Amino acid sequence: MPDYDYDLFVIGAGSGGTRASRVAAAHGARVAVAEEYRVGGTCVIRGCVPKKLLVYGAHFAEDLKDARRFGWQVPDECEFSWTTLRDNVLSEVDRLNTAYTNTLESHHVEIIPQRATVSGPNEVTLADGTRKTAGKILIAVGAHPAVPTCPGHEHGITSNEAFHLDAIPKRVLIAGAGYIANEFAGIFHQFGAHVILINRTDVILRGYDESIRDRLLQVSLAKGIEFKFNAAFQGIDKSDDGCLTVKLKGHEPVTVDLVMFATGRLPNTRGLGLESAGVELDEAGAIKVDDDNQSTCPSIYAVGDVTNRVQLTPVAIREGQAFADSVFGGKPTRVDYGCIPSAVFSHPPMAGVGMTESQAKQTLGSVRVYTSDFRPMKNVLANRNERALYKMVCDGDSGRVVGLHMIGPDAPEILQAAAIAVKAGLTKDQFDQTVALHPSMAEELVLLR
Ligand code: NDP
Repeated sequence: MPDYDYDLFVIGAGSGGTRASRVAAAHGARVAVAEEYRVGGTCVIRGCVPKKLLVYGAHFAEDLKDARRFGWQVPDECEFSWTTLRDNVLSEVDRLNTAYTNTLESHHVEIIPQRATVSGPNEVTLADGTRKTAGKILIAVGAHPAVPTCPGHEHGITSNEAFHLDAIPKRVLIAGAGYIANEFAGIFHQFGAHVILINRTDVILRGYDESIRDRLLQVSLAKGIEFKFNAAFQGIDKSDDGCLTVKLKGHEPVTVDLVMFATGRLPNTRGLGLESAGVELDEAGAIKVDDDNQSTCPSIYAVGDVTNRVQLTPVAIREGQAFADSVFGGKPTRVDYGCIPSAVFSHPPMAGVGMTESQAKQTLGSVRVYTSDFRPMKNVLANRNERALYKMVCDGDSGRVVGLHMIGPDAPEILQAAAIAVKAGLTKDQFDQTVALHPSMAEELVLLR
């Protein structure tokens, strides 16, 4: 066995890299992790966590209005301080960054706060020029926002910068209609901005069930969010007063105060030296890996968004855990990618697991679909004309629930529990045998007709 500096060198201390480092160290490996920015990665530092906190903050806009119907004396003009929320969220990010760092240190993982690149199958080079060797290298460097190369694109921001804004702009244009676009459309709208969401096609949230997406579109339009479809980005002009005029193919130009790109995320493989070790990339620039997270170089593995399999934090964590257990724990483990639940923290949120109705119809012989389209009790008393929609997709022959999709208050919280039943392969009858928990929104799941 050659005498390496480490058993494992991890590049990237995000969700996948942190989990892999900690678990490999717990299995007895000598581990170092290089991180060029902050321990925690996209999810903790500039993604899921601060976004969810902004979603909570944004929701008070409606809650405060609704509170009056529940007897609370709320002044007509409630003041909102963006800087208070922003700074509190950034403090929480700092706390988590410290907690993640402490966890790694308490597991005796050496944290190297520098960029590292691959310089051979068992060697990395740090930004200061130091070379380190390792028996195995794990690439967990994540992805970055894709920004169109149109003229003036530098005047736009991405979600990375959204957490640090000085103020909430009056008019915001968001390019894209996926997760980030719809989540930030809700956030900016609730904070009082006029939001225009534009997309190159006429589809929002491709991949989600059609009825659920349509409901989000209807509710968002009713709230006052504007949508422009089949609108390709042509460029941005910045005027002396700071306003941004966005030129769109097939639409009149739009003038706003902020442009945010939310047009997908690309793997962070550029300049990583992967070619020096024969690590192959796919056409999207993602590291090609097998079911065991192993790249085309046997000593180099990759997990998380850099592999562009499923760009979700809990999946990266599972991949990191499976890698560490398999390679250092003597427990060969593979991630099961079936029935991964996901959610969009829009206003209202939506969530889904398993096949959409159209996927089921294309895959299965016969399909039965059950829906519940209802106005949540709280919305009724609040005079809020916003309806929730739950959809259950079943195999028509066996009655097995193959998909569950919902939009409405707390949909992600409800779906996480229901996803266990879908993953376990339960049938509609088995759902129905469970007594309803009344009064709740979740009870609709066992009362579907
Ligand atoms: P998404 O893939 O969700 O959406 C991208 C959007 O941009 C789509 O509307 C797509 O249009 C459009 N688009 C893609 N490429 C281009 C292009 N070249 N020019 C113009 N428009 C384009 O990406 P996001 O950026 O919203 O999020 C990135 C990933 O991060 C998500 O896929 C998700 O995995 C993860 N994420 C998860 C969250 C969660 O779990 N709640 C929250 C935020 C992010 P069309 O579909 O019409 O082709």
